[in-house]
Amino acid sequence: MLDTKQKENTHRNCFNPDCDELGIYPAPKSRENLREYLYFCINCIREFNKSWNYFKGLNEQELEIEIRKSTTWDRPSWKFGTKTLNYDFERAFKDFDEQKKSNQKNNISKKLQNSYKLLDLDINSSLDEIKGKYKVLAKKWHPDVQKKEEAEYNQNKFIDITNAYKAILKSFTETKK
Ligand SMILES: [Zn+2]
Repeated sequence: MLDTKQKENTHRNCFNPDCDELGIYPAPKSRENLREYLYFCINCIREFNKSWNYFKGLNEQELEIEIRKSTTWDRPSWKFGTKTLNYDFERAFKDFDEQKKSNQKNNISKKLQNSYKLLDLDINSSLDEIKGKYKVLAKKWHPDVQKKEEAEYNQNKFIDITNAYKAILKSFTETKK
């Protein structure tokens, strides 16, 4: 319950039209307008914080900037009424960070998929199959066995195959860890 002093300080009603409580907790109107506030009661601002996605609509570069801001503690004035309510921002940031890490994981697996493709191997190939295949391809594309006029081009092919093979081997040891 609000005491008299709080009532005197806040003559606004909660922004939620269905709510009869006083609006004492400020929330930024929008991401573009962090200094203008709407005022809610404690229950409504909790709801507001849950649904307010600070990062929504930002492109990747803008998100990077926001992350950098957060990691250097150079935070703009988006502190909400109480410490508890600030939690949702922290969480949104954490969620985004995790999302980013998982995207990176997907990129690595895509790279790995390309390595398998380059060696003309199935993604489920056994280690023996991979080694066998590499042996055949390395022999075929090794610069020593190439015609002189093709050697330069095929040297790249040999390097590509070797790099792909290394990447696949590495993924094998990483899975076993
Ligand atoms: Zn309310």
